[in-house]
Amino acid sequence: MTAIDNLAAVLAEIRAAEQEAARRAGAVRLVAVSKTRSADEIRPVIAAGQRLFGENKVQEAQAKWPGLKAETPGIELHLLGPLQSNKTADAVALFDVIQSVDREKIAREISREIARQDRRPLLYVQVNTGSEAQKAGIEPTEAKAFIDMCRSELGLAIEGLMCIPPVDENPGPHFALLARIAAEAGIERLSMGMSGDFETAIAFGATEVRVGTAIFGERERT
Ligand SMILES: *Cc1c(COP(=O)(O)O)cnc(C)c1O
Repeated sequence: MTAIDNLAAVLAEIRAAEQEAARRAGAVRLVAVSKTRSADEIRPVIAAGQRLFGENKVQEAQAKWPGLKAETPGIELHLLGPLQSNKTADAVALFDVIQSVDREKIAREISREIARQDRRPLLYVQVNTGSEAQKAGIEPTEAKAFIDMCRSELGLAIEGLMCIPPVDENPGPHFALLARIAAEAGIERLSMGMSGDFETAIAFGATEVRVGTAIFGERERT
């Protein structure tokens, strides 16, 4: 199976999961996760019609996406990985959505860069639903206060929430928790679900699923 075949299969599975969950057709958007993939591997997927892509490192994205974006209008590029403060300016310049706003320092720097560059990527807050020590994200109990602070103090529009459930747990309760925090904060976009669990995420209200392996194949371990 080529990436194009896989893309078609994943899109069909998303449509089926929407229907199964009594969601509106097209309620769920696919973010194709292209980390570790070369521009040559990504190009056929763009040619097949895919427009939303996710990367988890600023530097890696800078090496391939300015060129790919110049080739095809309408690409929407999402940052999924933790943002370092010395990369904030580059991230605001390149990405259309930053899904990994995960601490006050980064939120402040994004706010400064938005003012400085007059560019306004959409911002999602990452929530560490499993309270894992090694994982980025705001603690669930602190999410509402953090979102309020971003909005009122920094003037940031927070449009979505993102989570990555613990690998060894049933993801359903984590998706439900993210959906509940979003409802409390008046947030409509829910980025949740990856290759192994996107159908479950759609049942719990995902509006964006982030799928890499199921489209591009297994990644080499780095
Ligand atoms: C790599 C990655 C994905 C995609 O994972 P797959 O299991 O390959 O689908 C999704 N979200 C984030 C944040 C990632 O880093």
